[in-house]
Amino acid sequence: MTPHNDRSALAKKFAQYKADFPILSQTIHGKPLVYLDNGASAQRPMAVIDAEQRYATSMHANVHRGVHTLSQRATDAYEGARERVRSFLNAKSSNEIIFTRGTTEAINLVAQSYARPRLGPNDEILITWLEHHANIVPWQMVAAATGAKLVVAPINQAGELDLAAFKSLLSTRTRLVATSHVSNALGTVLPVREIVAAAHAQGVPVLLDGAQAVPHFALDMQELDCDFYVFSGHKLYGPTGIGVLYGREALLEEMPPWQGGGDMILSVSFQGTTYNTLPYKFEAGTPNMSGAVGLAAAIDYVDRIGLADIAEFEQDLLVHATHALTAVAGVRIIGTAADKASLVSFVVDGVHPHDLGTILDQDGIAIRTGHHCAMPVMDFFGLPATARASFAFYNTKAEIDQLATAVASARALFI
Ligand SMILES: *Cc1c(COP(=O)(O)O)cnc(C)c1O
Repeated sequence: MTPHNDRSALAKKFAQYKADFPILSQTIHGKPLVYLDNGASAQRPMAVIDAEQRYATSMHANVHRGVHTLSQRATDAYEGARERVRSFLNAKSSNEIIFTRGTTEAINLVAQSYARPRLGPNDEILITWLEHHANIVPWQMVAAATGAKLVVAPINQAGELDLAAFKSLLSTRTRLVATSHVSNALGTVLPVREIVAAAHAQGVPVLLDGAQAVPHFALDMQELDCDFYVFSGHKLYGPTGIGVLYGREALLEEMPPWQGGGDMILSVSFQGTTYNTLPYKFEAGTPNMSGAVGLAAAIDYVDRIGLADIAEFEQDLLVHATHALTAVAGVRIIGTAADKASLVSFVVDGVHPHDLGTILDQDGIAIRTGHHCAMPVMDFFGLPATARASFAFYNTKAEIDQLATAVASARALFI
């Protein structure tokens, strides 16, 4: 990480990027848009929009097998995007990069293709209390189909994983650990290195849900040493409908395809079918080439800015937001982990989160309110919902001050 003793130099560097995002320059209800819902979906820079348009206007045809020029261009673009994802994650081989529709589909792939054939009664899948529904429900479905049990590691009042309890729940029956890298509901960064080490010590593979981590800090699959890692393009300033499953090659090799169709086969006859090699074995049907190209452009874009600088700048925003919101009477922050990504979940005494969200929208401020697809986390804190402001590198301290002022005014309407 570049040390930026001069905070204002960092702020100055980041002040230039908002202009790269055309959607951010509009007004909402007559007020300049303040977009603080990046944890649900981040906006796309012109570089991503341009890359998808270039693909559509000069390269598109169906990929693989084509002998004509456009098919070769489309194939090169799509496979080039795969290689870009590989280098971004520092995976060993592009065979380990499977394109999916997003985080949700990637987890379902692992649940159906890795877990389901291996699990039986008495086997356990270990998750945590912090998971997004996408990292709960696919395991419940597999558990229901196989008789296996879903075991949930507890958290503390700060919204941190109880690592000792997690380790004690790892047993000879555990077949897979699946945890988030960063909680989307609270912002907690989980101790993934300790989780991986503890699981591997028992010979248990680990899937990490990186949907909220990938936009905020640099990753290295070989150093992290997890077995599966999943994320979505649209939370990384890329398109929707594209995501990634990273899987250790030896495990992916052992796994059967989970969907059948074109592209995932080498030969088909009515006597039987020979499956294609990695990574195509898991990509049945025409893939989202345009989305993959857009995702590669998003990766180029964040890499140009530098994830180390992004992490440092966003931590500054997080500290500022935590102070600004704590200073508002009646505000309580939910999720006070020592290690957090740039996201603040909060409740306001006497104001329902949905009312708050609606009132803030009138000021042009977009936040998310609800259970954030993490109902167990809400239950843990005895809340039906929270308000959540999630920050990207194009946000500013001035926007956060506007948020705090608007929250204070909203509360004044109710007391
Ligand atoms: C958003 C999110 C998901 C689901 O991602 P999709 O893009 O909707 O598939 C899963 N886990 C976490 C932590 C998320 O933030």
